[in-house]
Amino acid sequence: LNERRDSLLPQRQELPIWAAQNAIIKLVADHRVLVIVGETGCGKTTQIPQFLQNMFEKTKGAIACTQPRRVAAMSVARRVAEEMGTELGHKVGYSVRFDDMSSPSTLIKYLTDGMLLREALMDPLLKKYKVVIVDEAHERTVQTDVLLGLLKQVLDKRDCDFRLIVMSATLDAAKFVTYLGASTAAYVQGRSYPISLFYTATPEESYMDAAFCAIIQVHHDEPAGDILVFLSGSDEIESLDRLLRDRAPAHKAGSNNALQLYAVTIYASMPPEQQMKVFEPAPEDHRKVILATNIAETSITIQGVRYVIDTGVVKSRGHNAKLGLDSLQVVPVSQAQARQRSGRAGREAAGKAYRLYTERTFDDLEPTTVPEIQRSNLGSVMLQLKAMGIQDVLNFDFMDPPPRASVIRSLELLLGLGALDKEGKLTDEVGLLLSQLPVEPMFGKVLLASSLMGCCLEALQVVSMVSAENIFFFPREKQEQANAARVKFISREGDHLTLLNVFRAYLEVPRKDKSRWCSENFINARSMSKAVDIHEQLKARFTSLGLACTSCGNNLDPVRKALTAGLFYHAASLQTDGVYKVITSGQQVWLHPSSTLRGRAKPSCIVFSELVQTTKQYAREVTAIEKSWLPDLVPGIFSATSKITKG
Ligand code: ADP
Ligand code: MG
Repeated sequence: LNERRDSLLPQRQELPIWAAQNAIIKLVADHRVLVIVGETGCGKTTQIPQFLQNMFEKTKGAIACTQPRRVAAMSVARRVAEEMGTELGHKVGYSVRFDDMSSPSTLIKYLTDGMLLREALMDPLLKKYKVVIVDEAHERTVQTDVLLGLLKQVLDKRDCDFRLIVMSATLDAAKFVTYLGASTAAYVQGRSYPISLFYTATPEESYMDAAFCAIIQVHHDEPAGDILVFLSGSDEIESLDRLLRDRAPAHKAGSNNALQLYAVTIYASMPPEQQMKVFEPAPEDHRKVILATNIAETSITIQGVRYVIDTGVVKSRGHNAKLGLDSLQVVPVSQAQARQRSGRAGREAAGKAYRLYTERTFDDLEPTTVPEIQRSNLGSVMLQLKAMGIQDVLNFDFMDPPPRASVIRSLELLLGLGALDKEGKLTDEVGLLLSQLPVEPMFGKVLLASSLMGCCLEALQVVSMVSAENIFFFPREKQEQANAARVKFISREGDHLTLLNVFRAYLEVPRKDKSRWCSENFINARSMSKAVDIHEQLKARFTSLGLACTSCGNNLDPVRKALTAGLFYHAASLQTDGVYKVITSGQQVWLHPSSTLRGRAKPSCIVFSELVQTTKQYAREVTAIEKSWLPDLVPGIFSATSKITKG
């Protein structure tokens, strides 16, 4: 450990932030709140917590450093543990949903902003911490925004022993300074080299095809240097990865250089043991291609990148408050994001950035990204605020308040779920429990209902599979085989029970055969092991809350009833024209192409996990239900609005 620590020291000393160490320490000593701005890669996330730990060595308490994404929290913690020459989980640790690698002796803790919010439920003044660092604040995730609001209150209530640092990669610090009442911001000069920008002459029909061609072309024509490719999500990344593995070798002939392509992937839902691969240098005589989501925009820094390929898209949560529906959409990036992406090419030397869209398209992009809180389902956030004793959520001091309609909708949902009473107070029997379960309120309610219906074991398995995401994969070139393999799992009742069948079958497979079993069945082995992991933890949490955990055996009707009890907000009934209509909103929805209910007689009533908007509004993960199972309050759910507004 010490050897590794010593070998990393010279690298650390080269970081731009190192030179600013004394200046930063002085500013922190003089100010309770400080905003620090510095280019991605300058060393903020890894170094500043260490500087502060040295500075406040004698003060009791730990340093929390929040990250919008779990992957970033885990990878940075691992790196910093190495830099400090300690075992991960001791002096340096991390804490993310479903995974806690910290201990009472942890001095520097990297955690997702969501986890710090959860800690604030138990400890509203965050007394455990002498310093809280809100990192990547420019990302403005919902959780970051809520956290900033809470920390403002903590600053009011705690003495001078508490320090708040907000770190951002963009120059737009003034807004944070004003909001937090900070008196100053520190700017750390980064390093950057010239970047040549290239656009396509005409719009590309498929950015996936264009990305593949661009990779091959750069690989052929350009001297050594790694390629970073921005895509929208894990499914695109996995499919491009497979394409590169299958096809790229064929393109090698005629290449200018003797390098081979070596592809690595990184996205938020990636299992921890896979993540670190992205930081390892490519094997000798190889050129690394990193296929990444916007996580590589600012959250993590990978060395060696000289070429950036930007598809110009990002997957973004959207929320239609009027309809009360969520969507997950692939949308164009903002100009600010596009600049961040290109910037990744010029960190260590001059670089090239290829934008797979026209310059005209770039000019038409939004200048900056709308904060997530203004386009999100706030159910979970409002539940947490209520659980922290914040009654008047409509007037909570947000940096950019969410639309009133969204707040009201989310309160209605919570009322419908029984988490709030008519006065807007958290209920003991539902609300309090839901706030302690690490899943969305709707799925939390599924679990609570299942406990009453005697099918908790099954419901926990379903919810774990839903949380793990991307269980099936559908290689375009092996569509038929994949479908054939899937048949044996299919439940006529829909996708949730199909997922349950997969989970049950997977448990039966001996450990040594699991990976082969997965590939034979076109099932994502990484997602499966994640589902098993989540299941363990959810089950433990559930039992610790004193809830009954029984199995319903082979009669799965109770499971569908429990799903209905939680997902009724996403219930839809079949119209005479063959299209579904969401009962609470009147919104038209279609069965998602991946649904097992496609291609057979349509059930008259369904519930679904989420809405995905691509060419149409698709209901994803669908279960057939009986209309009579729906709670009575569905049609009248919105009538209580005026009351909550006042409360
Ligand atoms: P910032 O937060 O300012 O973007 P970081 O502190 O995350 O910068 O990174 C500083 C440097 O540390 C990066 O340039 C990178 O080389 C290195 N680094 C960070 N995390 C890792 C990691 N997990 N593995 C290897 N190197 C890393
Ligand atoms: Mg950082």
